[in-house]
Amino acid sequence: MSNKIIIITAPSGSGKTSIAHYLLARFPRLEFSISATTRQPRGEEVHGREYYFLSLEEFEQKISEGAFLEWEMVYKDKYYGTFKSELNRIWQAGKTPLLDIDVHGAMHVRKMYPANCLCIFIEAPSFDVLKKRLESRGTETPESLAARLHKAAHEMQYKENFDAIIVNDMLVKAQKETEALVKDFLER
Ligand code: 5GP
Repeated sequence: MSNKIIIITAPSGSGKTSIAHYLLARFPRLEFSISATTRQPRGEEVHGREYYFLSLEEFEQKISEGAFLEWEMVYKDKYYGTFKSELNRIWQAGKTPLLDIDVHGAMHVRKMYPANCLCIFIEAPSFDVLKKRLESRGTETPESLAARLHKAAHEMQYKENFDAIIVNDMLVKAQKETEALVKDFLER
């Protein structure tokens, strides 16, 4: 199977980014697919590493050029999208892109590449835990926290659409379970 794609998706606060980083460290064949976004960089985030940080105008220009494989307005006025060129760049390097994207974006990409996509949904053990994780991250305002929780509750309804569901109650266990799925998929 050529041109594979691995997607890690989850409501924010489920620990999917930690799992994505773990996979990238374990499998040299994986490369992080850098998305574009119109949100502001957080903390140490760097343009071209975590995201391509674009203005609203730049992002909309890219939409009109057809540059995105998928894009979503994940939060109000906050666009996120996967460039087609990003996946091509990674495939051309002989690698497999790892996408850390939201649930709707994941469903889109999976529909476009049904045969060569592994799509893993990471679930927090409970809504309460999710809320606590988001609060303790300290990066959210009360409004953005409420928006993320509202979206998370909505996204949980779609989890059955994915190839596997990993419950992240213990990070190490969730990492190992995900690693086994990825190993099997890459060897196919
Ligand atoms: P954050 O602002 O916390 O970095 O990301 C917010 C949400 O947007 C997360 O669920 C993240 O996975 C998702 N996201 C990041 N990049 C993309 C993308 O390219 N497309 C879509 N649909 N969602 C994305």
